[in-house]
Amino acid sequence: MDPCSLTLIELRDAIASQRISSEEAARAALARIDRLEPTLHAFLEVFHEKAVEQARAIDRRIGAGESAHTIGPLAGVPIALKDNMCLTWGRTTCGSRILENYESPFNGTAVQRLLDAGAVIVGKTNLDEFAMGSSCENSAFGPTGNPWDPARAPGGSSGGSAAAVAARMVAGSLGSDTGGSIRQPAGLCGLVGVKPTYGRVSRYGLVAFASSLDQIGPFSRNVADSALMLNVLCGHDPFDSTSATVETPDFLADLERPVEGLRLGVPKQARSDRNHPAVAKALEDAIAVYKGLGAEIVEIDLPRLDHGIAAYYIVAPAEASSNLARFDGVRYGRRAEIGPGEDLIALYAKSRAEGFGPEVQRRIMLGTYVLSSGYYDAYYLTALKVRRLIKNDFDAVFSGAGGQSGVHAVLMPTAPGPAFKLGEKNADPLALYLEDYYTVTVNMAGLPGLSMPAGFAEEGGRRLPVGVQLVGPAFDEARMLRIARMFERETNWHTQAPSEGP
Ligand code: GLN
Repeated sequence: MDPCSLTLIELRDAIASQRISSEEAARAALARIDRLEPTLHAFLEVFHEKAVEQARAIDRRIGAGESAHTIGPLAGVPIALKDNMCLTWGRTTCGSRILENYESPFNGTAVQRLLDAGAVIVGKTNLDEFAMGSSCENSAFGPTGNPWDPARAPGGSSGGSAAAVAARMVAGSLGSDTGGSIRQPAGLCGLVGVKPTYGRVSRYGLVAFASSLDQIGPFSRNVADSALMLNVLCGHDPFDSTSATVETPDFLADLERPVEGLRLGVPKQARSDRNHPAVAKALEDAIAVYKGLGAEIVEIDLPRLDHGIAAYYIVAPAEASSNLARFDGVRYGRRAEIGPGEDLIALYAKSRAEGFGPEVQRRIMLGTYVLSSGYYDAYYLTALKVRRLIKNDFDAVFSGAGGQSGVHAVLMPTAPGPAFKLGEKNADPLALYLEDYYTVTVNMAGLPGLSMPAGFAEEGGRRLPVGVQLVGPAFDEARMLRIARMFERETNWHTQAPSEGP
């Protein structure tokens, strides 16, 4: 049995029943990473020794008679982490030169929860610098390839975490999503990716990009595996003041129970010629699948979907400019050489000019501008008002207020197109920002969103996955996952794997 062919739960069960050891699983993952990394570059750091050491520790406990169940729900399973999550071994670079040598003195809460559940961390994955981007090309350490076509982007910013799961290096990984960075790469790599409700998963130890939008979430090959990871990740954390004090349900408990009288809302704005034909088809096919299951599909109006990008690209850079002020060459990271007679301001300026890449610098300048006196009201405050309207639109859609018919979830594309070629959109920031058309409003409203495999596009003789997205009411992940599982049961998109190429 090749451990890499198994889904997360299958692998977990194989280890628990001692059909394979955790060490075998870790070694298989590491061997596959070593073989595929030259083409994909999904990882910034691979923990060859430490992963085996962690796995052996789990095997010893199982060997000594401890049941995997008491060790934890992920006992012995290899997992990869996006490299903006703090871990006390290796480095936490955020894909940036400025943190090239940064070693975290603590584990982030989500990371610690994985470790406590028995997960084996095999490495840190590539990302757009500070999670700013939609293609992984903004990484200071070079782009990641999409396993379905390595000449194409895996999406971003959590592109490395998505590629690692799509290429079967690991069965599960963590990403972070500020405006789509879990869902869009999940869509482009043919995976399930979940952005939980804001506040559901602690952000402590996630290097902040835009604090009011950032959430950590899982990538996996199917819905149940993501549900399992959410069981581990979610929960209140006193170290994050925005962490919600809500109960975490067992997301697996009712997963197979279909949602009765299901009503899904499809925004009329989502049926647009902005969509690639394969995306349009995937959406219509998904609608047909749900109709076949007896769901009621209603057209809804999300009038502010069109304003999402404009508002997001004010709010997110504003928060980023503030969050990234701490990287000044003094307290953290890279410090530039300054000449005699140059002062502290020169040290800051040079360190930041050397340490941050062009997209991060663009966002810092944008954010500083929209927060500056005289422009604050015109830009930042206006964007916050739009944000409130976006939230009101979703609230109305779920509650049935204002003439809308209340729905259990919204169904729309994840991204307007399939994976694009590396280099294709990189010269035009606006083209890349439009990748986030369907995802950013979900963060602005703080809602849970999920992307799932829903079809393929054919481009240049390659099959490229296409995803559709479900969005649920706040803290209603359990039902969103059940709705996703209803679709998954009827389709086989999630069972397809990329060919390994030469
Ligand atoms: N692509 C979006 C951006 O560049 C979202 C990134 C994210 O979710 N981290 O900001």
